[in-house]
Amino acid sequence: MKIIVCAKQVPNTNEVKIDPVKGTLIRDGVPSILNPDDANALEAALQLKERYPGTTVTVISMGPPQATYMLRECLAMGADEAVLLSSRAFGGADTCATSTTLAAGIRKLGKFDLILAGRQAIDGDTAQVGPQTAQRLGVPSVTYVQKIREIKKNSIVVERNLEDGYEVIEVKMPCVLTAIKELNEPRYMTIAQIEEAYKKEITIWNENDINLAPSDCGLNASPTQVFRSFTPPPKGKGEMLTGTVPEMAAALIQKLREKHAL
Ligand SMILES: Cc1cc2nc3c(=O)[nH]c(=O)nc-3n(C[C@H](O)[C@H](O)[C@H](O)COP(=O)(O)OP(=O)(O)OC[C@H]3O[C@@H](n4cnc5c(N)ncnc54)[C@H](O)[C@@H]3O)c2cc1C
Repeated sequence: MKIIVCAKQVPNTNEVKIDPVKGTLIRDGVPSILNPDDANALEAALQLKERYPGTTVTVISMGPPQATYMLRECLAMGADEAVLLSSRAFGGADTCATSTTLAAGIRKLGKFDLILAGRQAIDGDTAQVGPQTAQRLGVPSVTYVQKIREIKKNSIVVERNLEDGYEVIEVKMPCVLTAIKELNEPRYMTIAQIEEAYKKEITIWNENDINLAPSDCGLNASPTQVFRSFTPPPKGKGEMLTGTVPEMAAALIQKLREKHAL
């Protein structure tokens, strides 16, 4: 079985800084991590590799050159190979352009049985790229996967998380599944695996390597452009009302009236 994992390098959330002039996320020099849901996607792929001998796991990412650090982490967790799609031409990509680029990279990797992605990236937060990539590759997708029950000859049976429970879905392979944290507990890397990971070659492809015209990727191919991102002003301090219950109720109504909420 050939499994491909889509993994994104994201700013470590409590380090997010916004460029006050460009209104975009400052990524340079900001500690980056493997997107948490993608660690669950990779862990699921590695567990399938252990269950089904002959399975290979390839991690693919679209990102700046420093995304190789995140890919080495994936190799140290146990991935067989890693591919980075990196070029200035990919800059400013929205989810539409990101999924086009990932799909082009995956086509170049050839035939596959299963793609595992994270449900959501903690920076863009759109949860769009997984299903969009499936759409571009013409394969079905199941999102919010909390359990992989079984793999049959040409299909896979999974549990999809719902607000009030879950549904069991059997989907034809090849397909795309997006992982949530309930799916598993990602493994830790061992020192030996980290050393091994640094001996492995990471394949780096640009737009020419994956047959994409500059107009088909990055900002040029992005219907959605992040106009401005900003840190919302901190909310004002709450006010504690005191007195008897009727007094507090009366004071609350008064305040809501002053704010025209009543
Ligand atoms: C604050 C902010 C807001 C944004 N808002 C929007 C918006 O409203 N609409 C829009 O189109 N774009 C938006 N973007 C741009 C968007 O982040 C990028 O297009 C990004 O590459 C993909 O979207 P996402 O981060 O939401 O990923 P998601 O769709 O949340 O990612 C889901 C999964 O897809 C895979 N994946 C996503 N990106 C990559 C990658 N680069 N390499 C490998 N796998 C990947 C991962 O497995 C990930 O878990 C925003 C970016 C920022 C920083």
